[in-house]
Amino acid sequence: MPILCNVRQLQKKALVFKGELSGQELDLEGFDDCIKLRLPIKYDLEVQLMEGGILAQGQWQAVLDCECVHCLKSFQKVLAQSDWSCFLMLEGEEQVTVVNDCVDLTQPLREDILLAYPQQPLCEPGCDRLPEKAGARITESSQVQPSEMNSSVWAELNKLKL
Ligand SMILES: [Zn+2]
Repeated sequence: MPILCNVRQLQKKALVFKGELSGQELDLEGFDDCIKLRLPIKYDLEVQLMEGGILAQGQWQAVLDCECVHCLKSFQKVLAQSDWSCFLMLEGEEQVTVVNDCVDLTQPLREDILLAYPQQPLCEPGCDRLPEKAGARITESSQVQPSEMNSSVWAELNKLKL
């Protein structure tokens, strides 16, 4: 469910939005080959009407399933922002889209989560290890027929044992 904030209700009082959004709902799946969002993002936001716009502030937390760009090891990274805020203009050139009196807060949240994504995920700072699965990767990428596949895998394994 997108985070839809009703502007009419907001005229009466501040609203609280608390819940979870999946990577699919945030359209963050497949955005980066090395980073997956298997667990939903948690958010807790308070939204209020201000002069000329809507102010949303609160916190969110995401657990990223990353693959180290160096050693290809899988690891998890927690991204969190405890003082997140955004201002959506209700008038002027950068006016936000209002559909059925509602403003979608999912989009600004998505953008800031993306900004917080690590550019080159590393399992630890300065990781310079080589992938453990190097042999297997070479076999996968070389163009062998399926029937030849097994023998070449064994050949690779034998090389490793020596
Ligand atoms: Zn690594």
